[in-house]
Amino acid sequence: MEYDVTIGLEVHAQLLTSTKIFCRCSTEYNSPPNTNTCPVCLGHPGVLPTLNKKVVEFAIMAALALRANINRKSFFSRKNYFYPDLPKGYQITQYEVPFATGGYIEIETENGKKAVRIREMHIEEDAGKSFHPEGSCIEHTLVDMNRCGIPLLEIVSEPDIRSPKEASNYLKRLRQLLRYLGICAGNMEEGNFRCDANISIKPKGTSFPGVRRELKNLNSFRFLEKALEWELNYQRTLVETGGKIQPETLCWDEKELRAIPMRTKETSSDYRYFPEPDLPPLVISDERIEEIKRLVPELPWDREKRFISEYGLRGYDATLICSERSIADYFEQTAAKFKNFRLLANWLTTELFRELSERKLTMDNFPVKPESLALLLSFLESDKINLQSAKRAFSIMISTGENDVEKVISEHNLLQISDEVSLETIVDDVLKGYPGELERYRQGKSSLFEFFIGQVMKKTKGKANPQLAREILKRKLSTSSQ
Ligand code: ADP
Ligand code: MG
Ligand code: ZN
Repeated sequence: MEYDVTIGLEVHAQLLTSTKIFCRCSTEYNSPPNTNTCPVCLGHPGVLPTLNKKVVEFAIMAALALRANINRKSFFSRKNYFYPDLPKGYQITQYEVPFATGGYIEIETENGKKAVRIREMHIEEDAGKSFHPEGSCIEHTLVDMNRCGIPLLEIVSEPDIRSPKEASNYLKRLRQLLRYLGICAGNMEEGNFRCDANISIKPKGTSFPGVRRELKNLNSFRFLEKALEWELNYQRTLVETGGKIQPETLCWDEKELRAIPMRTKETSSDYRYFPEPDLPPLVISDERIEEIKRLVPELPWDREKRFISEYGLRGYDATLICSERSIADYFEQTAAKFKNFRLLANWLTTELFRELSERKLTMDNFPVKPESLALLLSFLESDKINLQSAKRAFSIMISTGENDVEKVISEHNLLQISDEVSLETIVDDVLKGYPGELERYRQGKSSLFEFFIGQVMKKTKGKANPQLAREILKRKLSTSSQ
């Protein structure tokens, strides 16, 4: 039997404000437990929430970028439930009229691009965090309220996703967008970008929707795909052995590689939603939207297209370079001074990416200035230094923070040897040093040519101009065999 797969994602993105959504407590991630708290976010009686303006600004940016319709008047609601990390006993969220509806994200699929529609997005507050410390002799739970009241943007997709791979592509695009906008750090490990996935199957071609189950705790793109694959398999097997799928909320267990039931799926009536009496409706004016429009930068997919048309990059390189706004910026700043864009793109996707990952660096405070890289690459392009030396110089500049390219090249003696006379002497020396090899070369073992080139490179510490060295060697070998 073949099945249609239906997936919809709910994403919780922590907004990068410096203070919480309804009070002035800091949102700092690394603070000691329970230090970023006050009577408001701890839910003491008699306190009143005040909405953080920045949260609204960020939500407008996200809605504009996703081409969603912003409700000019939305409302806050209380979602009631009891849990140790929720001191108020309710979460302030938006329910009946959310912040925005509609919009879409274009994603890559096996059959080209497609749009995944957004159902709605709303503003809400985060809950605290419970810990179950291991290794203590008494079983107990610790709670940290620092996260209580950190602003979240919940973005709910329509069930337009058809495979686990599409799900992770959607999530990657959404994360990239929010990071471009500078409104979410998008760090899944730190939990400031979280995803729940709803998935159902139904026999191919039938129209009645399948029963959906919800997977929680998917804190990487890989886990999302793995968990969805696992769940797909589970649902197929259950249906094929005559079972019936029950709606359930599951927690993905990465160690056991399986989804564990947490609870039967709650329905909205379990939460006793009611309007938040302490906050007025959220009114957004057209002027405000116009103001925020100016803060929305060029979006990643538009930038990719422009990099292809304006700089002539290949699609693959454009995608890699635009993956992060800071890298795309670095490309453009360097491209202003160095016009071989393909060589530059190639340098970034190989050398820069390798250095960043090996050194565990990000582009924040990256020590090599765009102008310095431009100069270095122009030396490479004009054969003043060869590829190996350019790589070395780049690496030295990252380690030392030195931006004087000429100084690095001369201090480390990286200039390419392109002058014929010195290269000829070196080639002669090599041939003299290996009479046995030279004899065998003459008897027909032509692969020894590369051996001689290797020796020339070794003698010059990699600085010989490779083309010139080959020419000279070719000439010497043909004359010396006569
Ligand atoms: P809840 O509030 O109970 O989580 P929502 O109506 O907000 O439910 O939907 C949650 C997610 O479930 C949305 O992303 C939606 O696209 C997805 N969804 C809805 N129906 C299905 C289905 N039949 N199969 C898979 N996902 C679905
Ligand atoms: Mg939901
Ligand atoms: Zn507070």
